[in-house]
Amino acid sequence: MALNASCLFCKIIKGEIPSYKVYETAKVYAFLDINPLAEGHTLIIPKYHGERTHDIPDEYLADVAPVAKKIALAFGAGSDDVEYNILQNNGTLAHQVVMHVHYHVIPKPTAESGLVIGWPQTAPSQDDLKAVHAKLIKNLEGSE
Ligand code: AMP
Ligand code: ZN
Repeated sequence: MALNASCLFCKIIKGEIPSYKVYETAKVYAFLDINPLAEGHTLIIPKYHGERTHDIPDEYLADVAPVAKKIALAFGAGSDDVEYNILQNNGTLAHQVVMHVHYHVIPKPTAESGLVIGWPQTAPSQDDLKAVHAKLIKNLEGSE
């Protein structure tokens, strides 16, 4: 396993620090957040040390969405009135505190509890959107 001896979440994966395990696969480990935004708030981490999503091999990322789905269903997401957010912060400015990639699965029971976020929408022109689109497509083609 590609873990880091001094990383908090790597220590949780190794069992050196206790956690409330919710689920695991060969590639990811899921456990309760110690300071939940709402009851059931769970973190999913790859069993591979990396700070941000783009640092993690695809084979580890492949288990994240299916496990997030299982956890959401476990806290009742099959029922229409159970809502939730899936969040992942990359970098300090983006509110990341623990520098081992982790995916939050957060129940949203009320407007005030669970994830509360700003959503500062902008209104670019069609030309601006076209320029951004062209740049991304060019970079994606370059990455194949
Ligand atoms: P982030 O801001 O995305 O880096 O979130 C880090 C999350 O890790 C926070 O929600 C913390 O409550 C949570 N956390 C930190 N230490 C632990 C721990 N030992 N066990 C469980 N969750 C933790
Ligand atoms: Zn780590």
